[in-house]
Amino acid sequence: MLELEKNEYAQLMKDADLFFKKLFPICRSITGNGVRKTLSILQEIVGFDIKEIPSGTECYDWIIPDEWNIKDAYIKDPSGNRVVDFQRNNLHVVNYSSPLDKILSFKELQKHLYTLPDMPEAIPYRTSYYNKDWGFCLSQKQLDSMNKEIKYHVKIESTLKPGNLTYGESYIKGTSGKEYLISSYCCHPSLANDNLSGITLWAFLLKKLSKIKTFHSYRFILVPETIGAIAYLKSNEPLMKTVNGGFVITSVAGPGEFGYKSSFIKNHLIDRVVRKTFQELDEYYIEYPFHVTGSDETSYSSPFFRIPVGTICKDKYFEYPYYHTSLDNLEFISAKNLIKTLRIYLHAIEMLERNITFASMMPYCEAMLGKRGLYPKVGGHYKQNKPCEDAGINGHGYEIKPGVLIPEKEIDAMLWLMFYIDGKTSLFDISQKIDIPMKQLYEISQKLVQAGLIKPIT
Ligand code: ZN
Repeated sequence: MLELEKNEYAQLMKDADLFFKKLFPICRSITGNGVRKTLSILQEIVGFDIKEIPSGTECYDWIIPDEWNIKDAYIKDPSGNRVVDFQRNNLHVVNYSSPLDKILSFKELQKHLYTLPDMPEAIPYRTSYYNKDWGFCLSQKQLDSMNKEIKYHVKIESTLKPGNLTYGESYIKGTSGKEYLISSYCCHPSLANDNLSGITLWAFLLKKLSKIKTFHSYRFILVPETIGAIAYLKSNEPLMKTVNGGFVITSVAGPGEFGYKSSFIKNHLIDRVVRKTFQELDEYYIEYPFHVTGSDETSYSSPFFRIPVGTICKDKYFEYPYYHTSLDNLEFISAKNLIKTLRIYLHAIEMLERNITFASMMPYCEAMLGKRGLYPKVGGHYKQNKPCEDAGINGHGYEIKPGVLIPEKEIDAMLWLMFYIDGKTSLFDISQKIDIPMKQLYEISQKLVQAGLIKPIT
């Protein structure tokens, strides 16, 4: 249903590389043209709506700030050399810096410079969204090489004016009455794993789910982190109150281990589905318990909304040394790693899609599978590890219709399904009681539906 075909892999790899290159250089922030440009490029992958909320709009405890845009910024020495240049790397400017044009001594300038002494090659990522300020980020190496005795021309060509907060949204309507949230954030500038990778995977996932008729509904949103999620919750309060669970997609294409940050419930369906996904796909991962610091799950899971939200990562934010530095760049991530994480997300969502609850049409006693063509015609050889002459096939297969074989394990699964299906226990819950992959269990359930033994209720 949501598995990736071989030819799809190749295309996705190509697309991921292409969009990484297109999107990485853009200077994004929580508002402004960088976000608009990013969303419009992502629309080349898949269609979704772009919406705006004006500056000054109150959203619970927050207010949408003025819109920030930037053209250029630099620190020039007296000979006119750009010692620090926004054009070379947009991380050089503290995101949301106020406009400035001044001649400053190194001492005056120094108060506004940020470095990482322990990573002398890396430029840190810093922001000042709600405190009007300005600053430059540079590598410790750059700072060390600056002449401390001279004056510098410091210019930031930015604007901070009433405008809008921009976000993306798409809704896929299913039939189950259950809804899941798929959220990611589009406010980080040139940082690859956090979160160019996340927004790319978000678009790939939306494209894939848009192509099938889904059982559940999916609310895809791409918002600036924190303020965007809060503004979205405020604008969609009654709808968001009923969401059953979700994911925040971030940091998904690093070279390190898979990670899973669980929901605040710890053992919600979302958490159990992700754990079973890693088990079924035989992939190692590190589980990180829920913590209030992180991303937008903090708002989605806040007391009023309480949406259980998990995050599947590959090199989780906070955990890799390049996090929020210029070394989190296109050399750090890869299309291959992004597709590996996409596969995990698709498998987990497919499990949610197959998580149907059935009512039993034969709850009184063991159903007679034989008269429905679901059991071998000649009995007695079940669990006997030897060829079954009567069925004309080997000892592990049974003929139901010519050419269709049901291994012994499937008979077991049918019997277990008929035993557990009671109108309350979902298919996923049953898959956790008996060790059979969800996909196989779902296929068998469909045979029981066809035979009129069970019927889907949710
Ligand atoms: Zn971040």
